This record gives sequence, C-alpha cells and structure tokens, in this order.
Amino acid sequence: MKRDKSAALYEKAKKYFPGGVNSPVRAFRSVGGTPLFIEKGKGSHIWDADGNEFIDYCCSWGPLILGHANEKVLAAVDKTMRNGTSFGAPTRLENELAELILGNNPYIEKLRFVSSGTEAVMSAIRLARGFTGRTKILKFEGCYHGHSDSLLVKAGSGLVTFGNTSSAGVPESFVKETIVVSLNNKQAVEEAFARFNQQIACVIIEPVPANNGLLLQDKEYLQYLRDMCTKNGTLLIFDEVISGFRIGFTGAAGYYNIQPDIITYGKIIGGGFPVGAYGAGKEIMSNVSPEGNVYQAGTLSGNPVAMAAGIAQLSECLKPGFYTSLEEKTNKLTKGITEASKLSTLNAQLFSIGSIFWIAFTDKNKIAAAEEIEADSMKHFRALYAGLLEQGIYLGPSGYEVGFIGEAHTDEDIQRTIAVFSETLQSVPIS
Ligand SMILES: *Cc1c(COP(=O)(O)O)cnc(C)c1O
Repeated sequence: MKRDKSAALYEKAKKYFPGGVNSPVRAFRSVGGTPLFIEKGKGSHIWDADGNEFIDYCCSWGPLILGHANEKVLAAVDKTMRNGTSFGAPTRLENELAELILGNNPYIEKLRFVSSGTEAVMSAIRLARGFTGRTKILKFEGCYHGHSDSLLVKAGSGLVTFGNTSSAGVPESFVKETIVVSLNNKQAVEEAFARFNQQIACVIIEPVPANNGLLLQDKEYLQYLRDMCTKNGTLLIFDEVISGFRIGFTGAAGYYNIQPDIITYGKIIGGGFPVGAYGAGKEIMSNVSPEGNVYQAGTLSGNPVAMAAGIAQLSECLKPGFYTSLEEKTNKLTKGITEASKLSTLNAQLFSIGSIFWIAFTDKNKIAAAEEIEADSMKHFRALYAGLLEQGIYLGPSGYEVGFIGEAHTDEDIQRTIAVFSETLQSVPIS
C-alpha cells in the first residue's frame, strides 16, 4: 500500500501544527507510523490521499452514525447554507432540533446548544455548581469528559484522591476541587461522600465509559450512584457525548432507565458538524442565563447549518428498527472476530453495547475499571492495527479507542472485516 502522499502531507503539517495535527490521537503515536490524510468518504468507506480505500470504523470518533456524506444530511446542509451560514440570532432550526430531541427523550425538559462536547460538559459542571452552591466534583478514572481544566485530572494513589493533573497548565487549586475514584467501586464513592459531606456539587460519569476501552458498568452501579446523589443533594451528570443517540435515541439514560439530573450530548447530535448540548429538567435549566445567573454563551451556538445537519441525521435515527439493525450488524462483527480469535494464539476479546465495540487482548471476560486494562497488551493492538490498515480496515489509531458501526456498513463490509481480522490475528506476534 502506497502512503507517499499522506507522508508528504504529514511532513508539511508538522511545520504548521504541534505534532502535525489538530487533535493528539490523530498523530498515530500509539500505533506507530504516520497518519493517513483522508481525501473523501462515502457511506462506510473512506479514501486517503494516495487513493487507498478503507472500511471505516472510526466514523469521525462516533458522530457519523449514518456514514460519510449521507445524501439526506448533505441536502439539508446545502439548502440551509444557501440562506446564510450564521446570524448570531435565533433561527427556526434550533426549535426544530430541540423539538425532535425533547419530543422523543423524556429524560430532559430543556436544553442549550453549544459547539462541542467539551463545552457541553464544562457548562454542565458550572450549572451543577451554580445550582447547588457547592464547589467539588467527583469523577471516575478512565472516563473522558473533554479537555476543560477541572476534568483533566487523573487518579492519584489511594481509594479517594484529588487526582494529579493529566496536563501541564492545570493549576493545583483547580485539581483540589476534583475528586477522582475508580469505576465500579462503591466503597470509594461511599468514602468520598463521607469525607466531603455537603461539598460535592455533582458526580459526573460516562454511563457507558467508551473513551478508555469500553468499561461497561452494571445498571445496579449506576442506580447506586443515582441514589447516593439523591441522598446527598448532589447532582448526577450523565456525560452522553458518546452514548447519546448511539445506544438508542435516549442514550444510556433510556437504556438503563435511570434519570440523571443533567445530561450532556455531542458527537451524533450535530450530524458531523460541531454541536454539543446540555439538558436537564426545567427547574435546573432555569438557572442558565439569561433566565438565571449561571453564565454561558457562544458566537456560533445553534448554528443553522449544524442544526440542519443534526435534524437530518436524528430524523433517520428515529425511524423504526434503526438501532436494532445497527446492533445486529455489530453482533455479527463481534461474533465473527471472536470466532476468528479462537483460532489464533492471542486471546482477543470483543466487548460491545449497541453499535459500539472494543477489542481487548485479555483473558478477562469483564473489564469495568481503567486499572484492569493491561498496558502491555497494547503492543498486540499495535501489531494488529498495522495489519488491518494494510488490508483496508480503518480503526481509531489507539487500542484504548472503541469502534463504531453505522447505518452505512453493509453485510459485505462486515464479512470482509471478519476475514481480514482472521488473517491478521494469525500473524500478530505473541511476545
Ligand atoms: C468526545 C467526548 C467529549 C468531548 O467532546 P468534544 O466534542 O471532543 O469536545 C466529552 N465527553 C465524552 C464522553 C466524549 O466521548
């Protein structure tokens, strides 16, 4: 497979951007080699600058649930932008996307559109602090909530810790407001609430943790968090930037039937454009400015072109059988790869929920906390990745990233992927 053109573009990009990219994982550091520069996408396939074709399971990290360049999304975008691309004033399209969401999601009553998942979470945290008048937040090791300061914090050693910053530039004083505990651990949550009685504004969790492997939690644990929050006057935030509109239209809240206090969205909600949102019941949302005194604003918030793309995409998601069909395809893929891995010397386990899947090299049949992932196993992913790429299968370039199935993936794609996996798994070095 020729990669000369991608390689040349990357050399140039390194002059312009730190590490040659505008978001770190894109640099291929954890799988080695240099990133592919993508030229175009259609349906489930993408083509790079050298003309190589790939079946895409990254799908822009989740947003493209209908696949690339979906005709309905394109038509909506085209029609809308011909009337102007931004006004900084309300448009009818914001109402339409809100109606589509709120009319089909009983877990929130009002929402606010922003321009990214990071912004949605950052604003939701401010809202929780404003509403409760408390300052501390509790998060879980292995959950990603975007790159705002108080969330770039990882666990220290100990059951309940103020973590360490996971980025330079985050002040110690911010870190002191963020408590970090392990996923799937009641004792740690218990202890945190005992120690910081009446100080915790919110507990924030990815109810389907999918940014550091796929660390599925039991419903019973999520319900436990709900109950602990209720008991302590703490708000429960479900960060559904990845799971929202993905594991069903109502996301994880609907899947587990648990009512959080605030929900954040991103990725799928914008149909491939930069949109995020946070929503809650009317009472909590009434604290957001200009109705309340929690400030939050955005020049391009509710952008009409992005709203039109979101409306077009979410309308498709609402069609009967949409999610069942994605799940069936995902099950076919994970079953096929699992069978193939039995013939190989490596134990590749497939974890999945709805149309999200994760490949882990482990003997464990359940991984529910970040510490349970063996860092050393990533060398197998690295070897696997190179083989898959060479054969035209594109996954997110890190063993900690999940894959996504969309409406555009065909049976042929799935069969071909299983065949390539079978072949590649045989050749992954064991040492
Ligand atoms: C992707 C993601 C974010 C960040 O969203 P951006 O649009 O990249 O800022 C936050 N939380 C979760 C759960 C995510 O998956």
